[in-house]
Amino acid sequence: MRLLVTGGAGYIGSVVAAQLIAAGHDVTVLDNLSTGHADAVPPGATLVVGDLRGKAAEVLAGGIDAVLHFAARSLVGESVANPALYWDNNLGGSLALLEAMRATQVRSIVFSSTASTYGEPESVPIDEGAPTRPTSPYGASKLAVDTALAEYARLFGFGAISLRYFNVAGAHRMAGASGEAETWLGERHTVETHLVPNILRIASENSGSVSIFGDDYPTADGSCVRDYLHVTDLAAAHLLAIDACRSGQHTIYNLGSGTGYSNFEVLGACREVTGLEIPAKVVGRRAGDPAVLIASSERIGRDLGWKPECGLRDMVADAWACGYR
Ligand code: UDP
Repeated sequence: MRLLVTGGAGYIGSVVAAQLIAAGHDVTVLDNLSTGHADAVPPGATLVVGDLRGKAAEVLAGGIDAVLHFAARSLVGESVANPALYWDNNLGGSLALLEAMRATQVRSIVFSSTASTYGEPESVPIDEGAPTRPTSPYGASKLAVDTALAEYARLFGFGAISLRYFNVAGAHRMAGASGEAETWLGERHTVETHLVPNILRIASENSGSVSIFGDDYPTADGSCVRDYLHVTDLAAAHLLAIDACRSGQHTIYNLGSGTGYSNFEVLGACREVTGLEIPAKVVGRRAGDPAVLIASSERIGRDLGWKPECGLRDMVADAWACGYR
């Protein structure tokens, strides 16, 4: 298929683009490189640099069968400080894309949604029927796009799938051409808020200490519990989803492993994998962090046959191999 990957120069989009190319698809990446990296776009993909609003219509008119939509701002804290940026970029940009799809009669779309659409859960594991009460403009803007997708499916016959990611970690290994070294696609955010890369950066720099945000949560060891998924497993779900888009339907799938790890357990896994001490100190809670987030991914398992292959150690080992040393 001829596929448009928006945000394909980012962490998750680039891994999905690599898997699509490996599966024989023709991939065009549209990315404004505001947070992505041109060199993360995998070999074989065509990179178009530009905004959804400026360029999506032009790329779609060139002949595209389906869209995988990752282009978005994704920092919860930044969204709280600057909500308009998130509404404008994440919702406004997505609406421009949907209108361009409508105009060019491209109707299949897989969207990068988030567990942040649920907010503080009433119970875990969280399934797709859980109430959606986002606690940040980031989560709210993603939920608004999910809602728009349901409308475009109903009104214009779009076939849309929203994948709601829980925590993503690890790196994707791309085999090198014969005689060439393998290369890795990993997490390279200029502003890094995520736990695993923050721990591994401190390990690799051998200075500073990890801040664990809170040890007074109602969990076994007092730190927050999250559901981690390897980026390679996450990307695989997108390839299944692109084949599962059905005209007139919008379907939501949660993506997680169904297993929770506390922040101390993640730190322990990083210490084991690296063989390093990695100093850590407990600091105050981070505003807006729910105590426990664990996904139920039963629906995508049942409908599309997806299941994760990798565990937390694989994620940490691959992130470490990718470039924190
Ligand atoms: N966290 C932490 N120290 C850090 C970064 C994150 O203790 O330097 C905690 C954070 O409070 C949360 C968990 O790690 O409990 C996962 O946070 P992350 O930002 O990786 O993902 P989120 O769950 O917010 O999407």
